Amino acid sequence: MEIALVGIGKIAQDQHVPAIAASPDWELAATVSRHGSVAGVPAYRDFATMLEDRPTIRVVSLCLPPVPRFAYAQEAIRAGRHVMLEKPPGATLSECHALAEMARAARVSLYATWHSRQADKVPAAKAWLADKTLRRLTVSWRENVRQWHPGQDWVFEAGGLGVFDPGINALSILTEILPVPVHLTSARLDFPENRETPIAAQCDFFHPGGAEVTMALDWLEPGTPTWTIEAETDAGTLRLENGGGAMSIDGVADSSLPGLAGEYPRLYDQMAKLVVRGGIDMDLAPLRHVADAFLLGRRVTVAPFAW
Ligand code: NAP
Repeated sequence: MEIALVGIGKIAQDQHVPAIAASPDWELAATVSRHGSVAGVPAYRDFATMLEDRPTIRVVSLCLPPVPRFAYAQEAIRAGRHVMLEKPPGATLSECHALAEMARAARVSLYATWHSRQADKVPAAKAWLADKTLRRLTVSWRENVRQWHPGQDWVFEAGGLGVFDPGINALSILTEILPVPVHLTSARLDFPENRETPIAAQCDFFHPGGAEVTMALDWLEPGTPTWTIEAETDAGTLRLENGGGAMSIDGVADSSLPGLAGEYPRLYDQMAKLVVRGGIDMDLAPLRHVADAFLLGRRVTVAPFAW
């Protein structure tokens, strides 16, 4: 199937372009970006022109930051195209619900991707936790924003999510692997005095079985990043590390090998199946937790941030 990639920036170049190139399902037939392009692929600066010029491209993948994404998704659905959304699927929950309604009415497929859910060990962690009694779960997501989002001011602008941009990846795993839903009960959000989004957060969650569930996010970690979820249960302790790429139970590493390699190849495999099958795959649970943190979080002003 022909696909167009929209928003040729960091994630498009790092992950989407190689995943599409390696896939037997997809041919990158066009890009749409004001500045970026991909060698050998017809490049458009304007989305409406591409939609009009290239009716055989039935699928578009939107790799823009969350705030501008809604307008592009709406335009694509109106033009009868199937749409794949980078995470988070929108800047607000209402936008996401509106897109789902539009896609349903237009009978096109809509896929809200959560790349971290495709990490190697997420299915194994989910399977192991399914019949255990949870006692304590700790999410620790600490990285250096200067390394992972160099100069990307949009992450610190309203709607850019701040430290919840990586934090929502942790939440996408958490909401996938836990057999019961949790919900946020309190949060502390650290806002640099010169920025509109938080640079660190501490969140507590209600768990129906009484387990203690907490999440610590930090964007000023100077050293090696930590992307870890640790779950203490009645039958041992599970540790998911490296953003879901490694797993151990009571210190013993899980060595099972998943099939297709890589988060983004799996996302594009899912999208190919969704287009064939038709329908909407849009789980908003991770974004709901972020919205709750912004609703309920106690705001603390911290030192200004400069790149
Ligand atoms: P980015 O490089 O800053 O932006 C992607 C592209 O979007 C830009 O190159 C720009 O292309 C276009 N764009 C930016 N603002 C725009 C606007 N207001 N209107 C229209 N186009 C605009 O961001 P990114 O890091 O790739 O992240 C994009 C999305 O992927 C985010 O939702 C992020 O959470 C997600 N993601 C990022 C990473 C990562 O490691 N960076 C990992 C996984 C997921 P033009 O200027 O050429 O139009």
